[in-house]
Amino acid sequence: MKPAIEAIDLAKSFESNTVLDGASLSIRPGEFVALVGPSGAGKSTLFRCMTGLTAPDAGEVRVAGVPLGGLRARDLARVRRRIGVVFQQYNLVRRLSALDNVLAGRLADAAAWRVALGRFSRSDRLLAAAALDRVGLLDHAHQRASTLSGGQQQRVAIARALAQESSVILADEPVASLDPDSAEMVLTLLKQLTAEKGLAICCTLHQHALAERFCDRILELRGGRIGLQDEAVPSFARAWQSLSPVRVSQNA
Ligand code: ADP
Ligand code: MG
Repeated sequence: MKPAIEAIDLAKSFESNTVLDGASLSIRPGEFVALVGPSGAGKSTLFRCMTGLTAPDAGEVRVAGVPLGGLRARDLARVRRRIGVVFQQYNLVRRLSALDNVLAGRLADAAAWRVALGRFSRSDRLLAAAALDRVGLLDHAHQRASTLSGGQQQRVAIARALAQESSVILADEPVASLDPDSAEMVLTLLKQLTAEKGLAICCTLHQHALAERFCDRILELRGGRIGLQDEAVPSFARAWQSLSPVRVSQNA
């Protein structure tokens, strides 16, 4: 299957600070991949290159096979819409309702949003409502974002990515500000979305235990490159290993 998103040999330096030095990764539709690595390793920089927000010094990003480099502005905007982003601090407009925040996902250009509020089509509103329903927050549609809990705000941010009809979600530390129960709910939701909608999701995580529990693969960014840290063991294989009593003692 064609990768939903690929980073190929990305390099990025800030003056003498080399942050990415040949970083490559590839995520297929339906995969939930964790990106781990120490603070300052360049995870956020890698995500910014992958969303086309920062131009890499070298290397290429492809979304559904289309290279971002060299696209004209309008085409770049269209391809970028395929990538939903979720941040540690949710990045909602706090004084607006949950529904209006999700509607922002219907706009190609976030700057056009203030003007556009109130001018969305019926199908945009239905799509936004369906996205809020999917994350379990339809009852809170008209509540101001600032009055929602952290976990609820993060689910609104995920609904915004769904309303955008993205095929890829890049989530940068999506659970770092959440209590354990909310973190679990957000990761469960992301995991379900990969299976249900075939989304390709890459998510930076600090807690290794969570990455192992929820993700299909764990990639590590270190020294500017991606290494395969761990192929998460399928649960049936883990159960088999723990059941298997066959341990031949050397002395037997
Ligand atoms: P991580 O997300 O893994 O913690 P970052 O991508 O935020 O790492 O940062 C990696 C390195 O790049 C850090 O040393 C940081 O200071 C540097 N860096 C990131 N963005 C910039 C920038 N816009 N200008 C200069 N240095 C930057
Ligand atoms: Mg970061």
